[in-house]
Amino acid sequence: MRHIWHKVYLGIGSNLGNRGRNVEKSLRLLEAEKEIRVKKQSSLYKTKPVGGPKQRDFKNGVVLIETTLAVKPLLKVIKSIENKLGRKKGAPRWGPRVIDLDILVYEQLVLKSKLLSVPHPRMHKRFFVLAPFAQIASRFKHPLLNKTVGKLLSELESK
Ligand code: AMP
Repeated sequence: MRHIWHKVYLGIGSNLGNRGRNVEKSLRLLEAEKEIRVKKQSSLYKTKPVGGPKQRDFKNGVVLIETTLAVKPLLKVIKSIENKLGRKKGAPRWGPRVIDLDILVYEQLVLKSKLLSVPHPRMHKRFFVLAPFAQIASRFKHPLLNKTVGKLLSELESK
């Protein structure tokens, strides 16, 4: 069977331990999957945590991957990588984390279920997502808002 390589943008963040190295490790683990290739990587942005207890700043970035996986199996892989890197199950939702991987967009797919919402419902409100996203794909059009990532970033900055 011929496989189609889907373009997916992932958000990556870490605020525990060696943050840059945790991000690098998660990229190596993504690359180790035969159904995934990492194509582009933004630089890492230092950002203040949103909500939750007092904790260290995050380092956040966005990567473009290509994958033959459908979106749900991709989420499974991402969660297993978070677990491998030592993210504790049941840790507080807004608490510190070794690694956080989010599916921001999967091609132009729109999906909302209990397990998964794509595009990520808060991505257009977060500077730490839009800034690195715009660095690697400012002309990517948000599947629901009909605006490019560059435009969403400049709107957020002018608020
Ligand atoms: P978080 O604590 O922010 O990493 O949220 C983890 C949970 O959010 C996962 O177990 C997913 O089931 C759910 N989720 C919903 N939408 C997404 C998405 N676009 N990317 C990753 N996780 C998602």
